[in-house]
Amino acid sequence: MSRGDPDELQAARAQLVSYSARLLADGLAVGSAGNISVLVGDIVAITPSGVSSAELRPADICLIAADGTELACRETPSSETPMHLAIYAATNAAAVVHTHSPEVIALSASRPELPAIHYAITDLGGPVRVAPYVRFGSAGLAEAAVGALDGRSAVILRNHGAVTYGRDLAQAYDRALLLEWLTRTYRMALSYGEPATLSAAELDEVTAEARRRRYGERRRGAP
Ligand SMILES: [Zn+2]
Repeated sequence: MSRGDPDELQAARAQLVSYSARLLADGLAVGSAGNISVLVGDIVAITPSGVSSAELRPADICLIAADGTELACRETPSSETPMHLAIYAATNAAAVVHTHSPEVIALSASRPELPAIHYAITDLGGPVRVAPYVRFGSAGLAEAAVGALDGRSAVILRNHGAVTYGRDLAQAYDRALLLEWLTRTYRMALSYGEPATLSAAELDEVTAEARRRRYGERRRGAP
């Protein structure tokens, strides 16, 4: 058990402040909506509730134990802390990003999933499911999100937003941007009629090729 290296925790707090600002700048949330977290050892560093990103300082970032105990928090931790903790418990996530991004919310209100109309969706594990609606901040929402994440690194929350995770905050955030881009692209495709989608076999082929190329890069000593 690692309680979280103090230097790493400090770095995580600073990183969460800068990514919170990006969340607004990139249009993935408005006001103080959306929340992000990073796992450091067995401590979750998470944005507080109701603090706008313009006012957010590293010392405002809350530190929470895996069982939900508040270790340090000036204000109130994000209302979605139970969902973040549930995702860390159920997956190999090291960072979680929750957005209220408009394209995703629009899709969530009318479709059961985001289908694969572009092969980049393999980075999210395949077509992204829409989890049933459950009130924000509830244990039920955490459960619904984890259930719909099965085999995916992204989930859409009906009439609410999206959650992505990754091996670090950069990857989790890039996936949130990718999900919004894929959803916008799908909406554009719908304007021509019902779009063609990629089959599971075609997606598997992309995943296998991407893995082969990454393996080749490692052998050549590329970063
Ligand atoms: Zn939310």
